[in-house]
Amino acid sequence: MREPDFTLSAGPVAASPRVLAALGSPLVYHYDPVFLQRFRDTAEKLKRVFLTGNDVLLLQGEAVLGLESAARGLVQPGTKVLNLVQGVFGKGMGFWLRDFGAELHELEVPYNDAVDPAAVAAFLDANPGIELVTVVHSETPSGTFCDVAAIGAIAHAHGALTLVDCVSSLGGMPLRTDEWQLDVCVAGAQKCLGGPPGMTLMTVSEAAWERIRANPAAPRASYLSLLDWKEQWLDGDKFPFTPSVAELHGVEAAVDELLEKGLEHSIERHARAAAACRAGVKAMGLELWPRSEKIAAACVTAIAVPEGLTDVQVQAHCRERYGVMISGGQGAGNLVRIGHMGISARSLHPVVGLAAVGRTLLDLGVRVDLGAGLEAALAELSGTAAEVA
Ligand SMILES: *Cc1c(COP(=O)(O)O)cnc(C)c1O
Repeated sequence: MREPDFTLSAGPVAASPRVLAALGSPLVYHYDPVFLQRFRDTAEKLKRVFLTGNDVLLLQGEAVLGLESAARGLVQPGTKVLNLVQGVFGKGMGFWLRDFGAELHELEVPYNDAVDPAAVAAFLDANPGIELVTVVHSETPSGTFCDVAAIGAIAHAHGALTLVDCVSSLGGMPLRTDEWQLDVCVAGAQKCLGGPPGMTLMTVSEAAWERIRANPAAPRASYLSLLDWKEQWLDGDKFPFTPSVAELHGVEAAVDELLEKGLEHSIERHARAAAACRAGVKAMGLELWPRSEKIAAACVTAIAVPEGLTDVQVQAHCRERYGVMISGGQGAGNLVRIGHMGISARSLHPVVGLAAVGRTLLDLGVRVDLGAGLEAALAELSGTAAEVA
C-alpha cells in the first residue's frame, strides 16, 4: 500500500518539516559538548511546557517506559494505591500496580465517562492511608479527560502522591504540574508536541524522589531505574546508558516550535481543532463517544461507529480509499478517532478527517449529512481563521 496522504491518528502523529529536518541532523557522540548542552536545554525548555520547577527526565523509550519506571519506583509490596480507571490506559496501570505488589484500590467508570473528583475525595476520606493516586489525564483510546487539577489537590490534601499519565495531553491541554500539585507526570513527544515516538518526557517532584529513594523495590542499575537517572545524570553528569541522539534532536525541535508561539497558543489551537471536529460530527448526524462534550479531550475526537459496522472496517476503508489514517477504538469500544495533535491540529486537518470519515460511512451505507458536517466544522474554524495555523 502507498504511504498515507494524511496521518490523523491518535499518535504517533505527522511531524513538521522542522522536526523531520532535526531528526536528520548529524548524529554526534553523546558526550560531545554540543549534545550535552542540547540534552540539558531540552529538559529546561520542557519545564516551561510542564509548568514545573521539578526535575525533568528524558528517557530513551516511548512513554510506556516512563509509566512503568514510575510505577516500579513508587510501589513496593503492600503500597496502598488508588488507581482511577476511565479507559484502557488506566486499566493497564492497574495490572502493573498489582504485579508490583501494590494493595490496589480502583475507582472505575464506563469508558465513555470521567472519574468524578468528588468520588476520589470520598474514597480517600473513607480509606485513610492511600499513599499514591494514579490517574490518566487524557484517555486517548476513548477521547475523554478527567479533572486532574482537582484530583491533584485532593490527593495532596490526603497525603497521597500522584502519578499522572499525561502522555497525550502535554502541550495540547492545560496541565499545570506545580500548581496542580502533581508529583510524577509522564508524557510522550509523539502526541500534541508533534515529535518522534521514542522518548519519555517526565517530571519528578522532591516528595516522589524521597519515596523512590526509600523504596527497597525501586529498580537500580536497570533500564527501568529512575534513580540511575537522578544519581548518575542529574547529580553526576553521566548518562546511565547512551541516549538516543536523533530522537533528542527531534524532541528539541518540537519543543522549540511549540514554545516559539507559546504554550497557550498551542493549547488554543488544539481546543479549536477539537471543537471544529465535534461540531462536524454532530452536524453530520453522528454521535460523539464521550457521554458529554464537557469531558471530551482536545487530543482526539472519538466517534461512535454506527450499528452494523466496526471500527476496523471504517478505519480500513478510510485508509485504503482515501489515504487518510485515523485510529480505531484500541479496546475502548466500537469507535473511531480523528486525531488532532501537533500539526494535525492546524489548518483544515479536522475538515479532512471529517470528510474522510463521513464519506467512508456513506460508502458503507450509513446516511450522514456530510455537507452539514463540513460546513459546521469550517464555521467553527473560520470564526477565528487568523489563529487556525
Ligand atoms: C499514547 C499513550 C500512551 C503510550 O502508549 P502506546 O500504547 O505505546 O502508544 C500512554 N498513555 C496514553 C494516555 C497515551 O495516549
